[in-house]
Amino acid sequence: MDVAVETTPAVLILLGPPGAGKGTQARKLEEQFGLVQLSTGDLLRDAVAKGTEAGKQAKAAMDSGGLVSDAIVIAILRDRLAAPDCAKGVILDGFPRTTVQAEALDGLLSESRQRINAAVSLEVDDAAMVARVAGRYTCGGCGEGYHDDFKQPAQAGICDNCGGTEFKRRADDNAETVGARLEAYHAQTAPLITYYDGKNVLQRIDAMGEIDVIAQELAGIVKGAMS
Ligand code: AMP
Repeated sequence: MDVAVETTPAVLILLGPPGAGKGTQARKLEEQFGLVQLSTGDLLRDAVAKGTEAGKQAKAAMDSGGLVSDAIVIAILRDRLAAPDCAKGVILDGFPRTTVQAEALDGLLSESRQRINAAVSLEVDDAAMVARVAGRYTCGGCGEGYHDDFKQPAQAGICDNCGGTEFKRRADDNAETVGARLEAYHAQTAPLITYYDGKNVLQRIDAMGEIDVIAQELAGIVKGAMS
């Protein structure tokens, strides 16, 4: 007799301060495992650009490097998680960032009988993060990441990935705001490392090295966590 095996979409969480490489690694995992990257930072920037009510309320906190209120972020994430493409499984990049958000996520997942497969902490030195974040920019076409000092396109002004010629920098990627974002990380988000350790889903990665080496280690963790 065949027994139907019910599979639920995978849920992966990437934890780490600004500049740790969450977005870069999430995009690689998206390609490799067919998961959907959910970045609350991207969702909030989109809301600000569109001038929605949530975007208007979020803007001041984002400009100063502080955290947007839990209520706004949880509402945005809940709506996005309900979209059909998330049935493929998700990589949460930049969410949760507070214990209240982590508990809200537990509630949302238990409603849909899902569980967290892994929460991976990308561990880096604070001192290096300011330089990493302050020099970074992305291709406006495909989102490929670059850096003034560490990774320029092979041909100046042309994206290696899509050939695009428009690049953009985030308004909050400047030395002053990065300091505030690091503080917010240590005060409000780092405690989630213990939270997920207590749930036996935490994995730690040294994220100071080469992007591709970290990607390989992360892929190994994800494979194990999805099986
Ligand atoms: P990020 O792109 O993840 O670096 O986020 C950019 C900014 O958006 C942060 O500095 C916060 O102001 C805000 N933000 C993003 N995600 C969250 C979250 N989960 N909780 C609160 N604020 C957030």
